[in-house]
Amino acid sequence: MKLTPIHIIGGGMAGSEAAWQAAEAGVPVILHEMRPKRMTDAHKTEGLAELVCSNSFRSDDAQSNAVGLLHEEMRRASSLIMRMGDAHKVPAGGALAVDRDGFSAAVTEALAGHPLITIARDEVAGLPPEDWDNVIVATGPLTSPALAEAIQGLTGDEGLAFFDAIAPIVHRDTIDMTIAWYQSRYDKPGPGGTGKDYINCPMTREQYEAFIRALIEGDKADFKEWEKSTPYFDGCLPIEVMAERGPETLRHGPMKPRGLTNAHQPDRKPYAVVQLRQDNKLGTLYNMVGFQTKLKHGEQLRVFETIPGLETAEFARLGGLHRNTFLNSPKVLDERLRLKACSRLRFAGQIAGVEGYVESAAMGLMAGRMAAAERLGVSFVPPPPTTAHGALINHITGGHIETTDNNSGSFQPMNVNFGLFPPVEIPKGPDGRKPRGKDKQIARKHAYTARALRDFDQWLNSRPAIAAE
Ligand SMILES: Cc1cc2nc3c(=O)[nH]c(=O)nc-3n(C[C@H](O)[C@H](O)[C@H](O)COP(=O)(O)OP(=O)(O)OC[C@H]3O[C@@H](n4cnc5c(N)ncnc54)[C@H](O)[C@@H]3O)c2cc1C
Repeated sequence: MKLTPIHIIGGGMAGSEAAWQAAEAGVPVILHEMRPKRMTDAHKTEGLAELVCSNSFRSDDAQSNAVGLLHEEMRRASSLIMRMGDAHKVPAGGALAVDRDGFSAAVTEALAGHPLITIARDEVAGLPPEDWDNVIVATGPLTSPALAEAIQGLTGDEGLAFFDAIAPIVHRDTIDMTIAWYQSRYDKPGPGGTGKDYINCPMTREQYEAFIRALIEGDKADFKEWEKSTPYFDGCLPIEVMAERGPETLRHGPMKPRGLTNAHQPDRKPYAVVQLRQDNKLGTLYNMVGFQTKLKHGEQLRVFETIPGLETAEFARLGGLHRNTFLNSPKVLDERLRLKACSRLRFAGQIAGVEGYVESAAMGLMAGRMAAAERLGVSFVPPPPTTAHGALINHITGGHIETTDNNSGSFQPMNVNFGLFPPVEIPKGPDGRKPRGKDKQIARKHAYTARALRDFDQWLNSRPAIAAE
C-alpha cells in the first residue's frame, strides 16, 4: 500500500529526529527546511540539526542526572540524534559534547540517504496547504515570522509567545520551611486555592538592602543584537532592571510584604518577601514569582542563596529572558502534541514548550512516532510519566499549572528535571535503614533513573511500538 507522506516543517533537532523515526516506522516523509534560502538570526549553515550555540548535550550520566537519563532512553529508542552525537563526541568530562560540524553533516547525510525521506529546501510561509493532513511543526525558537503569525491566528495571542521570561524554579523539598511559610496574600483563597498557596521567604531591611545591591552589581548576560528589538520589557521587567529603578521598586512590586504574616515570628513584620508559587500539579516545583532575570547563572545562585529559606535550595532551572517562539502548550495541545484548534498540526521541539537541544530532539522522537502511528492507522500509547520522555510530554500537555496573574506564573519552556517525575520511594540501604542527607539525595536520583529505565524498556518492548488499533 502506498502511503501519503507526512510533512515535517523544520530540519533542526526535533524535525530531524521526527523525520528519522517516522521513516524508520515505514512512513514516507517530506522534510521542509528553509535554510539556506532563508536563514534565522542564529543559524550559520545549511546543515540539518545545526547546534546554534554550545556544542554540549549536557550531562551524560544516566544514573544521577535527568538529561543523562533522557540520552539513555533516546538511545534505547534508536534515536538518530543520539547515534550521531555519540559518533561525533569530543572530550567533555561527564558531559556529552559533539563536533558540531561533523554531527550536523552526519545527520544531514543519514536523512538525505533514507529511501523514505525527501528534503525540500523551502520555507512554509503560512498555514500548510489543506491537503497536508499530517504535519509536524518543528520550527523552533526562531520560527519564521510568516508561519508564526499563521499559527497565532489559530491559537490567539495567549497561545503563542515570542519571548520567554523565565523565573527560577526551585525543588520544593529543598526550601527550608523552618524559615519560610505557606500563605496567600491576605489569606485569599482565589480560584481553586486554599489561602496557603504561596511559599514566603521573609527579609529584614538589612537583608533586603544587601540583596538589592547584589542584584545591581551582579554580572548580567548580554542581549544579542537581534534580541534587543524584541518588545518584551513592558510586562515583565527583569528583577535587576526593577532594582536599578530605585531601591524601593521591588518592595512595592513582587517583593511587597503586604498581607503576609510570618508564621514563625507573627510579631515581626517582614520588610520584604520573596514569594514562590506551585509550578506543577505534582507540587514538587515552585517558581519565584516575578523573578525573571538576565543575571548570569552563577550570579543567580550566589544572589538567591542569600534569600532566607533558600540558602540550600536546589534549582530545577534558573531564570532567563530570550527571544523564543513557543506555544502555551498545556492550553493549546492535546496529549498527542496536536493543536486542539487544528488537529492535523502536531508540534515538536522547542516550539512545543520544552527547552534544550536534547529535550527538543526527544519531543521530535515522540512526535515522529505519533505521526507515523496515525498515518498507519494504529494506536500510540505514550511512555508513562515515570520516564523522562513521559514526564516531559506530561508537563507540556497538562502537568504544568496554568496561572494568569503574570508576570512569572504562565507557562514557560522547560528542561527535563526530576521535579517533573512522580515522587519515588527511596529504597533502604544495605543496613536496612533509609539513607539520610546527601546519601538520600543520591539514592533518590538513582531510584528515579532505575524506575524510568525499567518502565521505558517495558514501554518499548511490551507495547507494540506502533500497535494495531
Ligand atoms: C540563540 C539560541 C541559543 C541556544 N543555545 C542553546 C544551547 O546552547 N544549548 C541548548 O541545549 N539549547 C539551546 N537553545 C535552545 C533550543 O533548545 C535550541 O534552539 C534547539 O535547537 C531547538 O530545537 P528545535 O528543533 O525545536 O529548533 P531548531 O533546532 O532551531 O530547528 C528549527 C528549524 O526550523 C527551520 N525553520 C524555521 N521556520 C521555518 C519555516 N517557516 N519553514 C521551514 N523551516 C523553518 C529553521 O531554519 C531550523 O532549522 C538555544 C536557542 C537559541 C535561540
